[in-house]
Amino acid sequence: MTHYDVVVIGAGLAGLTTACQLAQSNQRVLLVATGIGALVLASGCVDVLGFQPADSTEPVKNPAGKLNDFLVEQPDHPYQVVGQANLEAGVQAFLKLVNQNGLEYQGDLTRNWLLPSAAGAIHPTCLAPASLAKGELSTGESMLIVGFSQMRDFYPALISQNLNEQDLVKAEPCLIDVTIPKAGKVDVMPLEVAGAFEMADFRRQVVSAVKSKSKGYSRVGFPAMLGLYHHREVVADLEKQLDKPVFEISALPPSVPGRRLYEGLKQAFLQAGGRLIIGGKVADGTIEAGRVSQIRLETVNRLKPIQANNYVLATGGIFGGGLEAHQDGTITEQIFGLPITEETNRHKWFNKNFLSPYGQPIFNYGVKVNQQLNPLNGSDAPLAENLYAVGAILAGSEWTRGRTGEGVALATAAAVVKQIV
Ligand SMILES: Cc1cc2nc3c(=O)[nH]c(=O)nc-3n(C[C@H](O)[C@H](O)[C@H](O)COP(=O)(O)OP(=O)(O)OC[C@H]3O[C@@H](n4cnc5c(N)ncnc54)[C@H](O)[C@@H]3O)c2cc1C
Repeated sequence: MTHYDVVVIGAGLAGLTTACQLAQSNQRVLLVATGIGALVLASGCVDVLGFQPADSTEPVKNPAGKLNDFLVEQPDHPYQVVGQANLEAGVQAFLKLVNQNGLEYQGDLTRNWLLPSAAGAIHPTCLAPASLAKGELSTGESMLIVGFSQMRDFYPALISQNLNEQDLVKAEPCLIDVTIPKAGKVDVMPLEVAGAFEMADFRRQVVSAVKSKSKGYSRVGFPAMLGLYHHREVVADLEKQLDKPVFEISALPPSVPGRRLYEGLKQAFLQAGGRLIIGGKVADGTIEAGRVSQIRLETVNRLKPIQANNYVLATGGIFGGGLEAHQDGTITEQIFGLPITEETNRHKWFNKNFLSPYGQPIFNYGVKVNQQLNPLNGSDAPLAENLYAVGAILAGSEWTRGRTGEGVALATAAAVVKQIV
């Protein structure tokens, strides 16, 4: 049986960044995950702290500068456990990792980008791919916003109207009728549009439909679908043909920038010598005498035991599959049966306000950890010294509270890497 230094369970942002850093530090790492996590559902940017107080409509301009105020307001947040130094280390490690792999992320902890969302609202985010960062609203530069009449779920008129009403920039919608090759008959999917943009002929048709309308605008915004594997070439070619900056605006899931990030991190992990199993479910794990002795992976005909010196649980919360909510009001952790900070009265799982800026209580339930990020046994003692938890499985990590989900993933990954290496 192969014995690993570390097994990381979960391939969301938390698991992938932990696994990459460990593999680059010469650890023998197995990363195993059922699926590819929330990266393909979120924007592909890294939100560290977008709103403080959480119900403020004013976006945070400097996340590092507002962190203490946020923690006074939300003392049970995972940032309290890991602290600002780990957040800084996580952000630096992430930038190094993705920029080594050609993803071109920009930003730092002292400023948020203010980017247009798919609804024409402001999305404050700390790190953004260069193609999204060029949509920065605070520059005030005018923009033409392009959509496709064949594609639902991206409405240039809605985005432009909302941006104009907020007096942020002058925005003009531009709906074009260019056939998207290989698109499904019922609905056009973002990855199909991304694939179409990788074809030179499709780009030529788009440019000829947009060019005359783009005169008088400083930049041209497209749905965030400008290529998957050849994204940089696609953007460079559109900019050359349109003779002005081109940027991307986040669209509804599945997220193409999120998928690019997943592919980039996966490559970094494999290049560092890591072993990856996607499509494998970890059924259970055994804790004996204060240590995890093994986990078992579901295979076609048996449960395969896997052993390592250390184990990192990055299975996400209820969305990721790491936690399961039951009709009797209990919430369980799926692999080790770890104690969960839960409310068994189901009436308390949700706020009356569906879109509460504080999120929903149920998404705050999770695994409580000590400062080393070892899950606790229900009081203050760690359950297993070689087991760590990162990302959305942690208690208090409801991401809509302040918009902090990706920041938590990076900060907790950095803290665990420090423990293991
Ligand atoms: C729809 C959506 C939108 C979001 N938008 C934002 C946003 O705008 N801003 C923000 O800050 N945050 C946002 N988030 C949250 C943010 O994306 C996550 O908190 C962050 O990426 C960290 O996720 P994670 O890696 O901890 O877990 P996930 O990305 O959920 O990954 C969990 C991983 O664990 C695997 N897994 C689970 N159980 C098992 C098992 N038994 N065996 C093997 N593998 C298993 C899954 O397959 C998956 O790979 C959003 C989340 C969702 C779901």
